[in-house]
Parts: sequence; C-alpha cells; structure tokens
Amino acid sequence: MKEQTQLLNYIPVDELTGSIAVPIYQTSTFVQEAPGVHKGFDYARSNNPTRKVLEDLAAKLENGKNGFAFSSGLAAIDAVVKLLSAGDEIIAVDDIYGGAFRLFTQVYEKFGISVTYVDATDSQNVADAISAKTKLIWIESPTNPTLKISDLRAIGTIAKANEILFCVDNTFASPIAQKPIDFGADIVVHSATKYISGHSDLIAGLVITANDDLGAKIKFIQNASGAILGPFDSWLVIRGIETLSLRIKQHAENAQKIAEYLQSEDLIANVYYPGLPTHHNHGIAKSQQKYFGGVIAFDLKTDDKELASAIVSNTKLFKLAESLGGVKSLCCLPCEMTHKSIPREKRYASGVVDSLIRLSVGLEDAEDLIDDLRQALIVAKENVLIATDSI
Ligand SMILES: *Cc1c(COP(=O)(O)O)cnc(C)c1O
Repeated sequence: MKEQTQLLNYIPVDELTGSIAVPIYQTSTFVQEAPGVHKGFDYARSNNPTRKVLEDLAAKLENGKNGFAFSSGLAAIDAVVKLLSAGDEIIAVDDIYGGAFRLFTQVYEKFGISVTYVDATDSQNVADAISAKTKLIWIESPTNPTLKISDLRAIGTIAKANEILFCVDNTFASPIAQKPIDFGADIVVHSATKYISGHSDLIAGLVITANDDLGAKIKFIQNASGAILGPFDSWLVIRGIETLSLRIKQHAENAQKIAEYLQSEDLIANVYYPGLPTHHNHGIAKSQQKYFGGVIAFDLKTDDKELASAIVSNTKLFKLAESLGGVKSLCCLPCEMTHKSIPREKRYASGVVDSLIRLSVGLEDAEDLIDDLRQALIVAKENVLIATDSI
C-alpha cells in the first residue's frame, strides 16, 4: 500500500457507532461496572479513547511501538529527559531548538543533568564526547534554521555500541520524510504543532518509542507528570495527519522551486535547503530523507539587517510570524524573533547572521510564492539601499 492510503487506513472507524470520523471523547472519567472493572479507560489523564487513536497512529507513522501525545512539543521533550537521573549526561546537537536548550540548561542542570553540545554533522564528534555518564544522545536533523543534517545511521550505530539512548527530534522532517527508528533511534519526539497538525491552529507534542520497555517508562511519566493532550486537540492532530503525506510532498516540491529561485537572486549569499546539491550535507539528506522539507533559510551578501527586515516586512503571501509547518507560508527574521536570546557571537557561529531569513513554505502555488518574494526583494531594495544610497 502507498503511504497516503496506508495512513488513512490506519485511522479506525468507530466500533461503537460506525462513525467515519474519530469521536471526541470529551470526558474526565469513565463509569465502571464494578470496582476496577472497565473497558480499558478509567481516568482521562491516564487514557482517553480519542488521544489513544492519535497515539497509535503516531507509533505507526514512525515505525515505532508506542506513541504518546503531550500538551506541547516541549512537554514531549521534557518527558524524555525525565527518563534520566541526577549525574547523567546528555550529548546534544549544537544548534538544538532554543526551547530544548532552555529546558536543558535552565531547568534540568539544577537537577544534576548536564549537557555537552557537539557539531553532530560529523558523527565522530558525538563518539568523542561520550563518557561513562552519557545516557542520552539528542539529535535534530534537519536543524533550525540553517538545516544542518546529521547522519542518523552512523549516530544510531554509535549509540547502540555504547548502550546509550538515542532520541531524534524529527519535527523539521516529519515522519513522512524521515523515520529515525529505521536508522536506530530509540525515541522520536515531535512538535506536532508544526507539520503533523499542519494548520497552525494548536500546540501539541508526541513521543514515539521503538520498544515496549521504553514505552512503559514514557507512559508512566506521561501519567505521573500529567502534561497530556486534550481530546479536542488530539482530534485536530488526527485530522491534520489525514493529509500529512500529501502536504509534505507539496511543501517539499514548492520549497525546492523557491530554493532554486533564491539561488538566482544577486542580493542573496547563501541559500540553505537540503534539496540543493550545493547543501553541505545533501548526500546524507538524500540517503535518509524521502523529502527535503518545507523550510528554507537564506542570507544577504551585504548581511544588512535593515534590508532583511524590509524583505520580510514586504512579503504579502509569506506572513511574518514564528513557527513553521502550516499550510500558509510564513517568514521570519531569526535574529530578532526566534534566536533573539542567543548571544550574537554564538548566533554567527551557527550561521544565524543578522540578515538570515527563514521561510516556512506553505501550500500556495510555488509561482505565486516566488512572485511574492521577488516583489518583496525589489521593494526592500528601493526602500533601503536606494534610500541610504548604499549601492
Ligand atoms: C517548535 C519546536 C519544538 C517545541 O514545540 P512546541 O510545540 O512549541 O512546544 C521542539 N523542537 C522543534 C524542532 C521545534 O521546531
């Protein structure tokens, strides 16, 4: 079966009524026949039938064993870190999602969990950083916003050889483009806020485990800490997943065309997109991703922040907003928005220069999106460069 058919086929028809849509079980508790005798549901923090459909679906999408739905991507990440104990160490990719960095350093360090950050695009750096205390390897691939790629197979092998848990934040790729468990990951997390739900209308997270032992541990943490996803949001995520494979394909097709167009613009220095043969990890991306995703970043030859700011302020179809993965195209200026709290020097070291612009390419027609960027570049040039006489 092809992926889209399979995906729709995974979503069960309601056994009780035949409802083709998954019912929303908006309830806190379930009536029991006798004490402890029930239909598998007792209290909705522990288990909810709507959430369960999503959780089973997530496990199947990632070729995992168990899925768990959380109230946000960060709550999902938090649940994975709670597998560790004081004194344990994490090795994490250096341009990790800012919220994960904040959670690791400002919440978990004080509980005795330390993190070593490495450039994971070279797997040897991961191997070299391992100590007796290393319990978890944390990778994002592609990363945000410069779309660095790590070799998941190689890191999976390193993790196995050293008996260290390997977790991949697969938010940017989506399970349609990349399935880390196939490459040796033990755990996959998602901000389902992005591609998985796909309509920029909710906040949600997922954890998928490769085996039942880890599944039982995450299940315990999910219930013990309680950051579950509610039934209505679970239902919205399921509805989003119904079109996930179609959306990812179109996001990637649009992004490829836009990335190629951006490369032809004189004003632009670097275009970061894993689907471009000029991308430094294009080969690895190709070997582990079915699609290259819908996020593109680019910077300007002059590295002029005012000009970059004028570009993102003058697009009409690309709305100026944080986040990504929705049907509507978004653009942002990371140095002023998503990456403002990171010191300038550290930002520059990871390619997040002042003029770097990030695009989340949506599902509008690629030609219209290209026209939109072209006109924004012209208007910005007129407003900034000509006004300041700097060309
Ligand atoms: C957005 C994001 C998160 C956090 O998810 P929320 O749903 O906002 O809590 C984690 N990782 C990555 C890569 C993200 O893009």
